Amino acid sequence: MAESGPAQERLNVTVRIIARSMVAEVCSIYLRRDTGELELFATEGLNPDAVHQTRLKPGEGLVGEVARSAAPLNLSDAPTHPGFSYRPETGEDPFHAFLGVPLLRGGRTIGVLVVQNRASRAYTEEEVEDLQIIAMVLAELVAAGELIESAELRDVEIAPHRPERLKGLKFADGLAIGIAILHEAPVAPGRILADDPEAEMVRLQAAVAALRAQIDALLEGHERFAGAPYEVLETYRMFAHDRGWNRNLEEAVRSGLSAEAAVDRVRNEHRARFAQARDPYIRERLHDLEDLANRLLRILAGEKPGDRDLPDDTVLVARNLGPADLLEYPREKLRGLLLEEGSAASHAAIVARALQIPCVGRLTGLRDRLSEGDPVFVDGESGEAFLRPRPAAIESFRSRMAVREQARAEFDALRETKAVTVDGVRISLLMNAGLAVDLDNLATTGAEGIGLFRTEFQFMVSEDLPRLDRQTDLYRRVLDAAGDLPVTFRTLDLGGDKVLPYLEIEREENPALGWRAVRMGLDRPALLRLQLRALLAAAHGRELRVMFPLIATVDEYRAAREMVDVEVDWARRRGRPLPAILRVGAMVEAPSLLWHLDALLPLTDFISVGTNDLFQYTFAADRTNPRVSDRYDPLSPPALRCLAAIQQAAQETGTPVSVCGEMAGRPLEAMTLIALGFTRLSSPPAGIGPVKRMVLSCDREAARRGVSNLLTSSSGSVRTQLESLARKLNVAV
Ligand code: PEP
Ligand code: MG
Repeated sequence: MAESGPAQERLNVTVRIIARSMVAEVCSIYLRRDTGELELFATEGLNPDAVHQTRLKPGEGLVGEVARSAAPLNLSDAPTHPGFSYRPETGEDPFHAFLGVPLLRGGRTIGVLVVQNRASRAYTEEEVEDLQIIAMVLAELVAAGELIESAELRDVEIAPHRPERLKGLKFADGLAIGIAILHEAPVAPGRILADDPEAEMVRLQAAVAALRAQIDALLEGHERFAGAPYEVLETYRMFAHDRGWNRNLEEAVRSGLSAEAAVDRVRNEHRARFAQARDPYIRERLHDLEDLANRLLRILAGEKPGDRDLPDDTVLVARNLGPADLLEYPREKLRGLLLEEGSAASHAAIVARALQIPCVGRLTGLRDRLSEGDPVFVDGESGEAFLRPRPAAIESFRSRMAVREQARAEFDALRETKAVTVDGVRISLLMNAGLAVDLDNLATTGAEGIGLFRTEFQFMVSEDLPRLDRQTDLYRRVLDAAGDLPVTFRTLDLGGDKVLPYLEIEREENPALGWRAVRMGLDRPALLRLQLRALLAAAHGRELRVMFPLIATVDEYRAAREMVDVEVDWARRRGRPLPAILRVGAMVEAPSLLWHLDALLPLTDFISVGTNDLFQYTFAADRTNPRVSDRYDPLSPPALRCLAAIQQAAQETGTPVSVCGEMAGRPLEAMTLIALGFTRLSSPPAGIGPVKRMVLSCDREAARRGVSNLLTSSSGSVRTQLESLARKLNVAV
């Protein structure tokens, strides 16, 4: 194969060698064209005139069947098979025995390798195995352009090469252009065959043993918090110890493949076969197997993602990323992130938002349509990915990026400017945070503090339950980073869409209305008290602000507040450090509170309106379900009247109030909030600049008059009316 000479000649030699070594009268290579047709590229034994002439439609004939099923087909009497399609030009009728194996790359069939014999006989398992190995090497050589001239391969689907646009969901805002890098690294073509199969077997076995040890360790760590996801880990363990899987790997190595290539081959076979499964349970199991294969490849490579040589404009591509995976990549090289699965509340999405890496998820079929090194564009504004975009498209992306960059520079220039309305009302702009990596944003955005610190993020990106010292440590770092600026910690808001693999939470019919947030904390006092203890200790000698999520009844708030008192007492009796000032508040997220604010507010030091939840409950529309989450507009009379009522009640009782839902970071929404009387807004870091620019151009009194007229409107949404109001008042939204 290494010989030089015309490509077709080399291919002809290749089929001749394979035929000879397999003792077959026929050996043929079919490759898949863009159209899905399988074209005869070389043959030994069939009519040579049929080369490049014979083309089989997708699924046609036995060759089509091999491509469709991505599995070997071994027949002793091929012409009697119902799938047999006779092509007179090939002259294949006298051949009875047929063995076809797929040429696989990354879970896609790029061609089919066939051997045939005149005599009616079944090929042995070993022969099938041998042909599969040959197919694997062949697939790599073809793909690497080492056997066939690239001109010939132009419309052969070795790798997808046309521009494509995939629609997904936006997980993190922003635009990025860069080079696709697969998190699950493909095996380098040069490392397919092993020189010394025995040494390779030792490597493989050592890696499998290390894999099993890893899984067992995960399970043991987990057993202390036994729960439903335990079953997932159990499945992992089952697969990791599965004899069939192990035997397939060993057989592949025994036949001359490197350990990596063996893992890759078994993985490709699983992928190609399972990909057709409709049953979601089976597809889930495929993922388990893939995760195992990836872990195994990483063990074999002995490298961390951070050690990989990455381009400066890396767009990371993965099925999904687990806790901490993203943090292992060098931030300065990461431009964007594309995920085949995930949800806006998944680890990867949370971390991406914290690191301000544009991210799009739920891109079905992503990895099969992409090769490592492809140029890609991540559109975190629209939730799309553009693969291999044309130069004209790239140009338009670049100009969109430039516009964003310019706006960003404008906002940067406002960093030190105080947010004061035209008529002199001081507005506090705070930011939402949840991870240590967020803290840099305090300085870059000029935020006046952290209005919402989501403590559950630490739990969500951990492999196991963070203990007291790890919690204390993080809270202390947050307070240190904030210096004199206020930080409001929100106690654990788990459950609902935020699930922890290591914590026992029963699956619920209706998680958004289920056992989440403060409900869990009250039922599991050990969890909440531990967290309060960490917060009290971290705030030693400083101000501590704590609030509870999803308070739905005044009694819940009383019970939660009592727990704070119990912890303070506990610390005092033991002479433990305590904060100099302690303020306790409630999040207003359950509509029930709107009719009991008179009872609640006197018990609180402050409140914060979580509009994300408040409106999902008010409008009965699950915020995590894209089919319903956009069915209402927060800029609508019912939503605005809710907000007005809360603001008024807070004002009457002199209770400090802030708004910390996503809407606080959008200029038009923020204008409306300010018009309703709110002066403290906490938003994602990216919202601070645009909202500050809006504030500086807004006359609060004029906005108040305009908005109060809209509260009684009969429209479902008053967005367009607010837009014209902003235009009329020259407010920069
Ligand atoms: C909210 O519900 O508006 C809120 C700020 O909390 P979270 O988004 O974390 O539920
Ligand atoms: Mg909430």
